[in-house]
Amino acid sequence: MAPDFNNTEQAFRHLSDAELRKALLLFRTVGSPTLVRLGKVLMNVALALRIPVGWAIRPTVYAHFCGGETIAESEGTVAQLARGRVHTILDYSAEGKESEKELDATRDEVLAAIDAAQGDERHAFSVFKVSGVAPTPVLRDPGSDPAAWERVKARVAALCGRAAETGGRIFIDAEETWFQGAIDALAEEQMSRLNRERAVVFNTVQLYRHDRLAYLKALTERAQREGWHLGVKLVRGAYMEKEREKAAEAGKPSPIQPDKAASDRDYDAALAWCIDHGVSVCSGSHNVASNALLCELMERAGLEPGDDRVWFAQLLGMSDPISFNLAASGYNVAKYVPYGPIREAIPYLIRRAEENTSVAGQTSRELSLLRAEVQRRKAT
Ligand SMILES: Cc1cc2nc3c(=O)[nH]c(=O)nc-3n(C[C@H](O)[C@H](O)[C@H](O)COP(=O)(O)OP(=O)(O)OC[C@H]3O[C@@H](n4cnc5c(N)ncnc54)[C@H](O)[C@@H]3O)c2cc1C
Repeated sequence: MAPDFNNTEQAFRHLSDAELRKALLLFRTVGSPTLVRLGKVLMNVALALRIPVGWAIRPTVYAHFCGGETIAESEGTVAQLARGRVHTILDYSAEGKESEKELDATRDEVLAAIDAAQGDERHAFSVFKVSGVAPTPVLRDPGSDPAAWERVKARVAALCGRAAETGGRIFIDAEETWFQGAIDALAEEQMSRLNRERAVVFNTVQLYRHDRLAYLKALTERAQREGWHLGVKLVRGAYMEKEREKAAEAGKPSPIQPDKAASDRDYDAALAWCIDHGVSVCSGSHNVASNALLCELMERAGLEPGDDRVWFAQLLGMSDPISFNLAASGYNVAKYVPYGPIREAIPYLIRRAEENTSVAGQTSRELSLLRAEVQRRKAT
């Protein structure tokens, strides 16, 4: 049975009174569309003019949504999550890199994150974005520069291979549709190479696309036919507006579902498909109903909450009531802990602020639970 996601004592036990008040203030701020729009403009101006912004961001949004500038600096966050039985997924934030030198540097940093997870049970998975280790023109069209494509393949093979050698598991994040064909090809190559004994490499399936439930089913059948273990991270998808705009500009049909209900329906159907077909799955979602459904599906299938084939994941600083209540009930839970230089994290932070503004239902839920916990502590 799903835990009580409204148990605020359990949800925020890892936060001191001061940290709780800080989180409340932050969610109040990002709940205001005007403040978020203003913040975005100021951040973009500061980035363009190379004005130092660390002093303003570090103690506020950065401290809330990121672990630190380095793996070592993220240690406090890793330990704090582990106290609540929540695992870490170190997520190096580097976006928009194009030169071969920068792409190699990102590969090396992700290798260091994979090594940091080795033998440390507080870490559950490693993760990377293919666009962090590939020039974007090559991802759009792998045939455009065969030598560069071979270098991308070698970087992806190095990351997945290191995860396999160190006994770890690795997620390959899903991105925009114009990159996803190349990402799928790379992920499938690595899954068929390394997932022979167990699911090491996990591809990500975005269910806000209307064609992805069919992709998941076809991939399951292929893995069975070829004798390897399929691992998937399921998400609804993060690039909806961009996808719709681009399709409209090109006069093409949108790859995105017609409405939210269709995304929800396929997401939940994908969870059920994975449980019914023994696919190793990580549900990357802040949606209460989908998290509760996965608990129910596990129970119906006779799986223990701690069954290692099923994981729940959320982002650091978001949906603590889901993460910590699931973990306290014995489910496998992990949070993405983004880390990296503050300037590099700005696009990620803007997305988090916007997401928390646009997902009005969720933000008000998070806010009301934070308020309830402040009141509860005052009363005790
Ligand atoms: C651990 C983790 C890993 C993630 N990894 C990735 C990744 O690799 N790639 C990626 O793209 N995203 C990733 N995400 C982000 C994710 O895709 C979602 O954007 C985010 O989690 C919000 O969806 P939700 O399931 O939490 O639920 P909800 O808040 O219930 O759903 C919001 C989502 O529903 C969809 N949606 C909203 N309105 C509509 C509409 N009108 N029509 C159709 N669909 C709609 C959109 O996808 C929107 O983001 C990840 C999230 C987590 C927690």
